[in-house]
Amino acid sequence: MTCCKNCEKILLLDEIAIYRRLICRDAEEYLCKNCLAVSLKVGVEEIDKKIEHFRNIGCSLFI
Ligand SMILES: [Zn+2]
Repeated sequence: MTCCKNCEKILLLDEIAIYRRLICRDAEEYLCKNCLAVSLKVGVEEIDKKIEHFRNIGCSLFI
């Protein structure tokens, strides 16, 4: 199990993937999408949109 390094919520694969995509491809610690949204100063729905976007373009980080 991989947990958010900020709030310790158990992460979804999408949350790990979007963190890698937006922050650091080689990251070994991740933020959940709530904490990621706060750190990027955007809404969680923006993170959801980005996940959807990268999935739609076939990014290999998203399965
Ligand atoms: Zn978190």
